[in-house]
Amino acid sequence: MFRETWLWASDKRRVQKFVTEGALTRTVVQRFVAGDSVGDAVGAIQQLNTNDIGGILDLLGEGVTESTGAKQAFEDYLECIKRIEESGIDTTVSIKLTQLGLAFDKETCLYYVRMLASEAQAVGSGLEVDMEQSAYVSDTLDAFKVLRREFPDLRLAVQAYLRRTPVDLDDLAAEAPPRVRLVKGAYSEPPQLAFQKKSEIDAQYRYLIDWLFEKGTDPAIASHDSALIEHAQRAATRSGGGRKSFEIQMLYGIRRELQEQLARDGFRVSVYVPFGSAWYPYLMRRIAERPANLRFFMRALVGN
Ligand SMILES: Cc1cc2nc3c(=O)[nH]c(=O)nc-3n(C[C@H](O)[C@H](O)[C@H](O)COP(=O)(O)OP(=O)(O)OC[C@H]3O[C@@H](n4cnc5c(N)ncnc54)[C@H](O)[C@@H]3O)c2cc1C
Repeated sequence: MFRETWLWASDKRRVQKFVTEGALTRTVVQRFVAGDSVGDAVGAIQQLNTNDIGGILDLLGEGVTESTGAKQAFEDYLECIKRIEESGIDTTVSIKLTQLGLAFDKETCLYYVRMLASEAQAVGSGLEVDMEQSAYVSDTLDAFKVLRREFPDLRLAVQAYLRRTPVDLDDLAAEAPPRVRLVKGAYSEPPQLAFQKKSEIDAQYRYLIDWLFEKGTDPAIASHDSALIEHAQRAATRSGGGRKSFEIQMLYGIRRELQEQLARDGFRVSVYVPFGSAWYPYLMRRIAERPANLRFFMRALVGN
């Protein structure tokens, strides 16, 4: 119920107006978002890099509905890649296909992703593709299938809460071991499509970790859940791989001490660093995930 309410709010324009124009202080946003500009994100990643943690740069924004918005996002991502080259930071770039027009012009969207993947490759970085609401999952998988033939390092996020995900992964593996970021899933989805109970989502997540170590390549386990991270560590040992044989990914501002500890312990750790002014839906999803994030949010609202 708690999660549903906040995910509902993430999609409601009037609530958005109230929150973004209301008393919500920068404090809350700053906890989860690196800042408004690409320079802020570069600074945050430089800081992470000093602790041997890689970045995953994310320009906030999603659900673009016209071509000028998609073109703008494309140009903004090109600027990000230029800044990666100039600053020499260790980071990948994560994109949302709906930001690049997936919902209304698949061909141009694919063109943009190709350009970005090749620019990223040229500066020694790489591209990751976020997974969004269930309505876009099939199109995102189709785009990934085409693009990975040209860019084998492309990584795709898949969601453990979706009932279909094991079948999707088997389908991807029929051609080549997929390079995947495994997440629980952050959107509000109906029970016909997605598991709702934590125990069910965790069970599928564990199954998919084992699947990735067996049939995937270079798995990325994106979770703050210690039990699941430990499950991945055991799967790595069983598969004969060391601590560097997979990646642990977390979000900016969440479990920072654990991120640093894992990096000190010799694991490969990357942190997803969102930046930009379109932070509202992202922030609402983070609050929906965890009551403690809401307490932080309310304290900021009353100015403590
Ligand atoms: C790198 C990355 C990329 C992502 N990309 C996508 C994507 O493309 N598509 C998508 O749908 N979702 C994405 N997500 C979000 C994901 O789906 C989940 O919504 C999010 O990660 C929360 O799930 P969790 O696995 O951390 O587990 P949760 O069940 O939310 O948390 C598990 C446990 O982690 C600990 N924990 C969580 N938060 C905190 C905190 N603030 N402080 C202390 N302990 C905490 C607690 O012990 C908690 O019980 C991404 C997440 C990450 C980390």
